[in-house]
Amino acid sequence: MAWNIKKKYLDLSAREDSGQKKIWGDYITVCLAYPNRYRTGMSNLGFQTVYRMINNHPSFLCERVFLPDPEDEEAFASGSTPLFSLESQKPIREFDCIAFSIPFENDYPNILKMLDMAGIPLRADRREENTPLVIGGGFTVSLNPEPLSDFFDLFLLGEGEGMVPEFLDELEAVHKGGLSRREAFHRFQTGLSGAYCPRFYQIDYKQDIGIESFKPLDPSYPEKIKRRQVTLIDDFITDQCVLTPETEFAGIYLVEVSRGCHRGCRFCASGFVGRPARFRTQKGLSPSIDRGLRINQKIGLLGTAVSDTPDLPAICRSIIDGGGKFTIGSLRVDRINEEIAALLRKAGAETVALAPEAGSQRLRDVIHKGITEEHIFAAASILLEQGITNIRLYFMVGLPTETADDIEAIIDLVKKIKHHAVKSTAGKRSFRLITVSVNQFIPKAVTPFQWQPLEDINNVRKKMKRIASALRREKAIKVIHDLPKWNYIQALLSLGDRRVGKILLAAHRYDGNWSRAMKEVNVNPDFYVYRRKDVNEILPWDFIDHGVKKTLLIRESEKAFRDV
Ligand code: SF4
Repeated sequence: MAWNIKKKYLDLSAREDSGQKKIWGDYITVCLAYPNRYRTGMSNLGFQTVYRMINNHPSFLCERVFLPDPEDEEAFASGSTPLFSLESQKPIREFDCIAFSIPFENDYPNILKMLDMAGIPLRADRREENTPLVIGGGFTVSLNPEPLSDFFDLFLLGEGEGMVPEFLDELEAVHKGGLSRREAFHRFQTGLSGAYCPRFYQIDYKQDIGIESFKPLDPSYPEKIKRRQVTLIDDFITDQCVLTPETEFAGIYLVEVSRGCHRGCRFCASGFVGRPARFRTQKGLSPSIDRGLRINQKIGLLGTAVSDTPDLPAICRSIIDGGGKFTIGSLRVDRINEEIAALLRKAGAETVALAPEAGSQRLRDVIHKGITEEHIFAAASILLEQGITNIRLYFMVGLPTETADDIEAIIDLVKKIKHHAVKSTAGKRSFRLITVSVNQFIPKAVTPFQWQPLEDINNVRKKMKRIASALRREKAIKVIHDLPKWNYIQALLSLGDRRVGKILLAAHRYDGNWSRAMKEVNVNPDFYVYRRKDVNEILPWDFIDHGVKKTLLIRESEKAFRDV
């Protein structure tokens, strides 16, 4: 074992405040894996929630593992040191189960890296009876797990609160009964709603490489797998259970306020699979907020539709009355009013993020954003009036039906907001900065835009350059944008079927060289990324019952393009 890495892990553990330390004994052991660095993983509330849930089960012990820091990767990759857990520094292949919590497609390559570093066969069908079970869950894999199917024994699809405790009970029964791996998988697939063992499903392809059929290998397995969703989020607590200064949100105590969204922006999966939107009440949240205030932390209010939360003003007031401060990730433009802005100001907020997404009204209507230029100016005025002097604006490029005029409209809108800000703060506390964040639209499963192609990344590069150069000379405006090259890979991993796993495996073997992997594997990536799909074709994720009717998605898609 590399002693310098062990020392680093001991130091990280020592700086944590968790109150949950179980000692190895007769427990069934789970290593909860986050396919990115410690700082990122420990900022993820979903990851922390699963950690708490597993350790709360009396028969289970849960430890954590993260992608090693870049300077430590070599030691693990060389095989001299097998990947080990943070808490006890045990090699993760000694655990009974390795559970990956996977929030983003861009982290998929890290899963293969970590399995390799752990000395666990990458392909599920090469694992032996005593290999740990490798399971996965999280938002993106619950939308479409197929590109990862070759590497996982089991996926748990949907929200974890109901399903994880049931899975743990099943796993305990498997251990007590001394079942083989295959018997265990059979038990999960037949008895656990939301479970998906890819090996039990057969896919046939058409000549043009589309999907012909997707069938269970045994009549006792469900044809459609239900994505699990909880009904009342006030029934449980979702807040940080491990505190550490080593995170992206150091000094902020994260609590979940809302889940899902009913707004139905046509590019956004949360607006469809997350229906109905669910909100916590002030009463339900008060134990979490009290804990955060007791430990003197700023409260980070998280959720997909925080600003739609009916109790939001009361929640914010209770934090301020308790002598605390809070932050909110992003607010819907049409939900900003004097009351919320004043509370934000009292809480010490200096920056507020708004997401117009598109510059022209025509394109905002296509994506069903549901806001107008009047909403945007009104929100900016209210924020500035309260002395919030930094505004972050989110835009997307490459949206369906977008033209050069829509790109110019982004530039015009940003300039207009800036002039409006300068004018309305004249003689008062001066306005500081507009940060314009530009990202490429990436089609997502289970949205009305799931049939749309990704726009050519070379065009997108030019559009991003145009926006950046048009705003370069403007004082108090800063433009940041993502790298289109990685958007192609993200789209491939979002929209792909099982064959995309071959490209992922090759990219891993070629040390992240995706161009070489895509050339050498006999699967055409453009088929998934740049092709407009037919509404009648079988999509890779159609075997999952996401609780959204395809007819609704088709209707929304037709509405989007009706009047353009
Ligand atoms: S983009 Fe925001 S408001 Fe729109 S559906 Fe998604 S979460 Fe809701």
